[in-house]
Amino acid sequence: MTEEQVRRYLEFYQDLGVKSLFRRTASSTETPVVAQPVVESPPPPPPVVLPALEPDQDTLLKILEDIGDCKRCRLHEGRNKLVFGTGNPQSKLVFVGEGPGADEDEQGEPFVGRAGQLLTQMIEGTARKEGIPLLRPDVYICNVVKCRPPGNRTPQPDEMEICGQFLYRQIQALRPKAICALGSTAAKAILGTKDGVTRLRGQWHEWQNIPVMVTYHPSYLLRPYNQNAKKEAWEDLKKVLHFVYD
Ligand code: URA
Repeated sequence: MTEEQVRRYLEFYQDLGVKSLFRRTASSTETPVVAQPVVESPPPPPPVVLPALEPDQDTLLKILEDIGDCKRCRLHEGRNKLVFGTGNPQSKLVFVGEGPGADEDEQGEPFVGRAGQLLTQMIEGTARKEGIPLLRPDVYICNVVKCRPPGNRTPQPDEMEICGQFLYRQIQALRPKAICALGSTAAKAILGTKDGVTRLRGQWHEWQNIPVMVTYHPSYLLRPYNQNAKKEAWEDLKKVLHFVYD
């Protein structure tokens, strides 16, 4: 592995919020052990063998193939359909949610339930008001984890880390002009921060040189006592749409 690959690998984990990494001692199965001549000084450590983050010329199709019939984490146990992502693969704007709910798990598409309907209204309603000709199929929508967490619980750190490699590759393959992170799980996965949405929203952040706007998750906006947040989410979306489409 080259220095540049190691640097990108570590950056990836940092983006996921992993602050410390521990190197395993050489194992007989994973680390090539080369016979060394007996010398006075200790031999140099064996090379670190880590998989590349994304293959050259990565595509959404290749990522989907690599995910395959995924059993990398416990979320596959309750899965009906894996929810990869949907929309225009040439889109300049990507929305990232948390993970599939019951409707999404059933249909295999992100944001098709009540929260999804609100997201569609938010995108299309704001675009219309702002004079931007944009419909939901024009953007790309995906989630941090691709399988439904049981009872719609928040994905756990190891699940986010395992599935995060595919989100990373999706965004790198799409290379959008901006990302809109919906809710704190998406914000945490993309920005590697523990800060909540209230603190992060409304301003631009950055991931791998791509501007990131954090806003409220549509499910949060569906609760009747969060109406003020709705106004703020509309403001955030307005900013995103003008930035991407003006
Ligand atoms: N909530 C999400 O975060 N993603 C979906 O796909 C649906 C609901």
